[in-house]
Amino acid sequence: MRHLSKSKIIAYRQCPKRLWLEIHRPDLRDDSSSVTAFRIGNEVGDVAREIYDDNGTLIEIETLGFEQAFAKSAALLQKGDAPIFEAGFKAAGALAFADVMLPRLSESGLSWDMIEVKASTGVKDYHRDDIAVQNYVATAAGVDLTSVSLAHVNNAFVYPGDRDYQGLLHEVDFTDEVKSRHGEVAKWIEEARKIAELSDAPEIKTGEQCHQPHHCSFCNYCAPHEAPDETSEEYPLSSLPNFSADKQQEMKSRAIYDLREVPDDYLSWKQLRVKEQSQTGEAYFDAKGAAADLALHGFPSRFLDFETAMFAVPIWKGTRPYQQVPFQFSLHNIDETGTLIHHEFLDLSGSDPSEALTVALIKHCGNEGPVFTYNASFEKRVMRDLGERFPQYQLALDAIIARVIDLLPVARNRYYHPSQHGSWSLKSVLPAICPELSYENLTGVADGSMAVDAFKEAIALETSPEQKKTIEHQLLDYCQLDTLALVEIWKFFRGIN
Ligand code: SF4
Repeated sequence: MRHLSKSKIIAYRQCPKRLWLEIHRPDLRDDSSSVTAFRIGNEVGDVAREIYDDNGTLIEIETLGFEQAFAKSAALLQKGDAPIFEAGFKAAGALAFADVMLPRLSESGLSWDMIEVKASTGVKDYHRDDIAVQNYVATAAGVDLTSVSLAHVNNAFVYPGDRDYQGLLHEVDFTDEVKSRHGEVAKWIEEARKIAELSDAPEIKTGEQCHQPHHCSFCNYCAPHEAPDETSEEYPLSSLPNFSADKQQEMKSRAIYDLREVPDDYLSWKQLRVKEQSQTGEAYFDAKGAAADLALHGFPSRFLDFETAMFAVPIWKGTRPYQQVPFQFSLHNIDETGTLIHHEFLDLSGSDPSEALTVALIKHCGNEGPVFTYNASFEKRVMRDLGERFPQYQLALDAIIARVIDLLPVARNRYYHPSQHGSWSLKSVLPAICPELSYENLTGVADGSMAVDAFKEAIALETSPEQKKTIEHQLLDYCQLDTLALVEIWKFFRGIN
């Protein structure tokens, strides 16, 4: 009898075809987007063990193998003298591992509080399915559960330092709910096992389920195997900004896969612009309007970009889970004569970079002139957070925030090139406006998420000084290009050559 793991049952809940592929064609899986989520989950899991009781026993599945892990779990559950982490259960056609099991001894005997730990900052619907399966399998395995809870990251927690993480997790009790869902879970397991036994994958077309509740690792396999398929079009419907899933579905039902064929009355002015420029293959540029937007802002003009890192488990005193903490900035400064000066900051020491970065930022931003950014809400939020953490710099930071001018709305309203494919991100707009300034020439770090990964690698204790130096160069080159890109876009919009 095949026992399905909890993750397989949850895969079935997302899409029966996903379950089938997980079992029969795991080679087709593309896990590149789930690596980070996996690492974050591990970070939170490690700290959860410290929070609940460092003296508990961890069942190390990778070392023990499944059967020994189940046997060891059963023995410890029988004993009930200490917490168990990753206890395994196998029953009723399924298997599951519980993050935390806390023993509870009372007059009526031994029972357990089961806690599932999640790295998210709230409870999601799929978490409820997850713990319903967990509870069903544990109960079927004969474990007496007093309570079943989900512990998620509390994003209001402020790390006081010294590895004191009490308060990082917030527990929500689901005991009554999971007990009422036994029938449902039994049905999922039965249906999932039937799918698992099929000799061929079930016929299921791609749709919303491919990204809800998780991005499916088989998207790169399924989508290209469907015909006719919008991904084969040069201008797919998905390139229409904010074109709803319902409208996309309606177009597909009418065999419309190319955004240039969507009737005008389905489109907003912005979507219409994307359609029209895609039809002509030429750029839209309201040069007069763009120049007028920017003529209001004089010199010296500065161009600012931050790189930030966030941690589910904060590592620096005074920071919150998932807070965007800046570790780097690049700042270009241009005066009336066209002289361009560059300033930068990067701290790879592993200590909290925030205060030194704030001091350097205030110094180089000066007291006058606009500070241009791209998508200003991000830079403003970073500076507001710094002001809250360091009240002694709040006034100076507020003064910089008041000078921030966002280039993104100017780009959105005044410019579009079909090569942008419906996106006004800096990396989409820059190649259209200034093709000679390319992110493709960078080595190692070429986008924001690569910058975060590189930063985390650089501050890791095991990273060699040589590798750290390499990363430092890559990060400096990358961030400098970001603000140089702002300068070029600003020049283009102002009509300066
Ligand atoms: S990509 Fe979509 S259709 Fe294919 S297995 Fe995943 S969820 Fe199912």
